[in-house]
Amino acid sequence: MSDVLWFNGRFTTTGERVIGVEDRGFQFADAVYEIFKFIGKRPVFLLDHFRRMERGLRAIEIPLPWTEESFEATMRELLARTAFGDGIVYIQVTRGEAQRAHFWPEGIAPTALAYSRVFRFPGAAKKERGIAVITTPDLRWQRCEIKSSNLLANALAKKQAQRAAADETILLAGGFVREGASSSFFAVRDGRIITHPLDEHILPGVVRDRAIELALAAKIRVDERPLREPELFDLEEAFITSTTQGVMPVTTIDGRAIANSRRGEITTTLQQQFDALERA
Ligand code: PLP
Repeated sequence: MSDVLWFNGRFTTTGERVIGVEDRGFQFADAVYEIFKFIGKRPVFLLDHFRRMERGLRAIEIPLPWTEESFEATMRELLARTAFGDGIVYIQVTRGEAQRAHFWPEGIAPTALAYSRVFRFPGAAKKERGIAVITTPDLRWQRCEIKSSNLLANALAKKQAQRAAADETILLAGGFVREGASSSFFAVRDGRIITHPLDEHILPGVVRDRAIELALAAKIRVDERPLREPELFDLEEAFITSTTQGVMPVTTIDGRAIANSRRGEITTTLQQQFDALERA
C-alpha cells in the first residue's frame, strides 16, 4: 500500500516516482533528513526536529523550504490525510535537481518531501528485555551533527549488527565511544550517567536532550564526556535513545553482559518517564 507523500507543495502517494535522476539528493546525498514520531496523529517533539533540520540545512547552505508555521501546517495536514494513527514521518530536503556536477548552480530550488509510514514501536516486553549491541570503528564523516542523508557508514555498521544477531552498533573512534549507528548512547557508572558531549562527532538526538533533562530533574548526575573504550566493559547500566526506540536498555555489548543482562534501575526510571512525556 502506498503512503501519503507531500512533495514540493502538493500531496500524492509514495507510489508516484517523483525524484529526478539528477536530483543531488540521489547523486551526492546532498540532503538533510528528519524523522519524527506521531501517536494518535499527534506529532511528538515536532519543533525540535524542525529546528535540527533548520540548523543542518543552514550548515550546508540549502535554503529552508518552510517557515516554522508552514512546516507545522504541512505536517498536520499530512497526518490528517494519513489512514493510521501511530507511526513516523520521514522528511528529506535535497539541494535540488541540476545537471550532474560537483559544483552546484546558485539559486536552485530545493526538493522537499515528507511521507508518513506505519512503524512498530517496541512493546513492553522488548522495552524490558533490552537489546544486544556490538561495537565497530566509526567510519562516518566529520560533521556528524548534521543529519545528512549519507548514511552509508551507518548502514554498513547496522548490517554488521544484524549479522551478529544484535540490534545496534556502537561506533568507536580514537579510543572513545561516540554513539549508536542510529541512536545516542548512554552509560551508567558509579550512579552517574555518561554520554558523549554535543560536538561534530555525534548527532544531537532529540530524545538524548529529553533523557538528560529527565535525569537532571530526578537528581541523577549527568557527565557529558566521551566514554573511554575500556569503560564500556565496566558499566552498571547502558541504554540507547532514539525517536523510534525511545529509551532502550542495552543488556550485552559484544556478547558481554551488562548488569547481568537486566534492565537497570536508572534506565527503567528514565524509560518510564520518557514514555509518559511522549504521551503527555
Ligand atoms: N544518532 C544517530 C546517528 C541517529 O541516526 C539517530 C536517529 O536517527 C540518533 C542519534 C537519535 O536521534 P533522535 O533522538 O533525534 O531520534
